[in-house]
Amino acid sequence: MGHVEPSHLAELALGHASSDADAVALRHVASCRPCREELKLMTRVVTAARDAEASDLPTAPPERVWQRIARELSHGAHRLPHSIEQRPGRRHRSPWWHRVR
Ligand SMILES: [Zn+2]
Repeated sequence: MGHVEPSHLAELALGHASSDADAVALRHVASCRPCREELKLMTRVVTAARDAEASDLPTAPPERVWQRIARELSHGAHRLPHSIEQRPGRRHRSPWWHRVR
């Protein structure tokens, strides 16, 4: 048989090997250096992805950060109509971050 398809190698790397075709593919990989290298690479990618899911995700910001953001957003929402009302026809054009304190 020819080399194992990359998509099949990916399945094997994911640990989905179960059928006779997988057994044949694994036997080929065992005796074929290019396929073995490819499978090793894919296994490393799969492992890295799984590790990332488990432990490399950035931790969520603390609750008070969200509270502060929510407070700033609600302040901005209150302030914006007010300033428009005070200066009709001359809308304040300063960047939004000038309103964030
Ligand atoms: Zn091969």
